[in-house]
Formats: sequence, structure tokens, C-alpha cells
Amino acid sequence: MPEKTLSMLNNSLVQLENAAKVLELDQWIHEMLKNPERVLIVSVPTQMDDGTTNVFTGYRCQFSTARGPAKGGIRYHPNVTLDEVIALSMLMTWKCALVGLPFGGGKGGVVCNPKEMSENELRRMTRRYTAGILPLIGPEQDIPAPDVYTGPREMAWIMDTYSMFKGYSVPGVVTGKPLNIGGSLGRNIATGRGASFVLFEALKHFNLSPSEVTCAIQGFGNAGSVAALFLHEVGTKVIAVSDSKGAVYNKEGVNPSKLLTHKQKTGSVINCEGCETISNAELFELDCNVLIPAALENVITKKNASNISAKIVIEIANGPTTSEADKILYERDVFLVPDILSNAGGVTVSYFEWVQSLTSWLWTEDEVLTRLEKIMQQGFRDTLKVYKEKEIDMRTAAQVFAVDRVADAIKTRGLFP
Ligand code: NAD
Repeated sequence: MPEKTLSMLNNSLVQLENAAKVLELDQWIHEMLKNPERVLIVSVPTQMDDGTTNVFTGYRCQFSTARGPAKGGIRYHPNVTLDEVIALSMLMTWKCALVGLPFGGGKGGVVCNPKEMSENELRRMTRRYTAGILPLIGPEQDIPAPDVYTGPREMAWIMDTYSMFKGYSVPGVVTGKPLNIGGSLGRNIATGRGASFVLFEALKHFNLSPSEVTCAIQGFGNAGSVAALFLHEVGTKVIAVSDSKGAVYNKEGVNPSKLLTHKQKTGSVINCEGCETISNAELFELDCNVLIPAALENVITKKNASNISAKIVIEIANGPTTSEADKILYERDVFLVPDILSNAGGVTVSYFEWVQSLTSWLWTEDEVLTRLEKIMQQGFRDTLKVYKEKEIDMRTAAQVFAVDRVADAIKTRGLFP
């Protein structure tokens, strides 16, 4: 088993243990929360275009359903492992609980290399995988969504396969669907917008307004570019953004919509007129108030944590800060809003999509964003309260609040039989 995935699960268990200590959690509940409720491993034989048959391995894990149906994405990647799927489903449990969604946590994956597969092969594999996990999924049981290398197209295939078995259309079985079959308005901007709402709350904590701050953003993809555009719109000076090719900087502020056009034309933000090109490493150390990692994991490390001048870090990416860097930032009084809170906008609008699918009542984008803002604000305030009361860092505070909510649901429901 690759070390990376082992450490991901171990890391999640250590974080759970820290929260359990703060909460003085009952031993049996701690024990329950260390293990997934249910895991299914399926064999996914798939006919390839050349007539041969490949047998892929797929997983679906329901980590917890204490607070509602399991919820979480499906990942297609050669490095998918059972441990990784379990760790990610645990993370989803905390994320949903933290922002108060009536969901538990789940995750799925297929070990495959989608970059080397044709659309027809992916379609056949997705439909067979869906048939395999059919006993677990359903609008009231477990609701998959996109993750790495899956998107609206795969969600449409899953929804259709599930519906064919049922004999009628069941849009509520997945979220992240295309709009024309029940997807939600606002889903594509949910993560970037949700992170911006969290940032505004953090700024209130520091008595700052969005127009008073400068910000650097690593990653100019789905989430990072949406945050950059919105922050620019409300008057925040975005002084640098980056992608995998490099970073661009302008002390007076860059123009994110111009950068988006430039990226669409050239494939990267670098060399955009009016900006200086700098390295990704330099971006982290720029003189600014807010730093938003929105690309990869493990980018804030013990090597650069001491040189970060921003006083607020909003983690849009999953796991961008190593635990050593966490300690350094906390000791330096850097206010870090953790990933499970900052990037919860995506799953929150997934929840809205599920509600719309179940009720056949479609919301306007305005309705979606207004509700998103309220949920993100509440998530921030709940975390901040624990941070202040327990005098712990924001990451542990978020974890403590979320674990407490799940434990509370377990206690209220009581043990079966
Ligand atoms: P994306 O693929 O659309 O964008 C990623 C961006 O990061 C791209 O601009 C890419 O060029 C850039 N990048 C890649 N390598 C880089 C490097 N070495 N240095 C700087 N930039 C680099 O992905 P996304 O959907 O925007 O997701 C970004 C992060 O946010 C991921 O960690 C993801 O797990 C997390 N996230 C996203 C969502 C969502 O709804 N999109 C939800 C929750 C969490």
C-alpha cells in the first residue's frame, strides 16, 4: 500500500484523536468513529474498445450515516486505494457535520487511468461500477458526486443507470449533474464563492473590510479563479495568482477577468500584460494580508511557513498545509481557516441540488447563493466559538465541533439493538 495513502488515513485518525481528547469523548463512540460503517469492494469487468475485457476494482464507503444519508464523491485514479477512500469518507463526515448538512459521509473510487480510456470505455465502466454499488446508493441512502477525474458526464451516467434499474427517473441519487437533468444553478461557483464568504467572516473577526485587504491565490482553476473574480468584484486587491506554469504579480492588483481570458487563449496566466511573472514559491511569501492555497496538497510546509507574511490563510485546496507547518503558523499567530470549512461550499450546494431533486422545485442562482452565504457564515461562527472557548487552533476547533455533532447524533439515536 503506498505510504501516502496510509499516512492520509493515519493523519485523519490522529486528528480524530485530538478532537476526542478535547471533547473527552466516550471511548465507545471514539471507537465507532475510527471505523467506517460499511465498505463495499466491487469488481468492475469492462469491455475495452479493442474487444478485450479489463477487470477494474471499485470501492464505495459509507463512513457514517448517523446524521443522514452518506454523501461524497467518486474518484477515478490509478492510485485509488481502500485506505484513501475510507480517509476521504471520514473527512466528508466531518465536513457535512461542520456546516450542519443533514448528511453523513461517504466516498467511492475506481482504480483506473481515465486519461488512457476512451469515452465509451469510461461509460461502460461507470455503468458497471454503478450496478455494482447499487445496493448501497440511493437518494435516501448514499448520494455520490464528482471528485478527481469525474464530473457531470459521469454523474449523468450513474443517474441513468440507477434510474434504469428502478424503472423511473431518480435525479436525487447523485449531485453535480448537468443542469438539463436536475443540476443546480450556482454549483460551478459554489466552492470559490463559499470560501469568499468564509474569508469575509474572518475579516470581520479582524475588523477589516474586503476592500482593505490584499490577497494572493495559488491555483487559478475552478475554485481559485471563482474566488479571485469575486474578491476583485468586492474591492479586494488580488495581487497575485498562479497555475501550474507559474505565478503573476502586480503590487497594485491584477485583473482576474483579464487573466481568465489570457489563460483561455494561452493555457496559462503567465505573461499576461500588466503583470510581472514570479515563481509559485515567491507567491507564498508576498507581502499581503490573505493567502489562499487553491491548488494542491502539502504546499505550505516547514520550509516556507515561517516566511508567509499573510495573517490569514483560507484553505480552498484539500490538505494544503502539513502538520509541521500548522504548528509554525499557529505559533506565529497566523489565522488559518481549515479546508473542511473553507471548501465546504461545494458540498453545501450539492445538498441544495439534492433538495431540489427530491422536491422538484428549482431554485434561482440568487436563492442558492443567499442560502450558501448563511450556511458558510454559520459554519465559521460555530468554529470560531470553539476556537475562542477552548483556545485551540481553527483546524482543531472545526474538527472538535464536527466530531461533537456526529457523536451527539449517535448518542441521541442510541445503540441498536
Ligand atoms: P482545478 O483542476 O480546476 O484547478 C487547479 C489549479 O491549480 C489549476 O489552475 C492548476 O493549474 C493549478 N496548479 C496545479 N499545479 C500547480 C502548482 N504546482 N502550482 C500552482 N498551481 C498549480 O481544481 P479545483 O476544482 O479548482 O480544485 C482545487 C483544489 O480545491 C483541490 O485541492 C480540490 O480538491 C479543492 N476543492 C475543490 C472543490 C471544487 O468544487 N472545485 C471542492 C472542494 C475542494
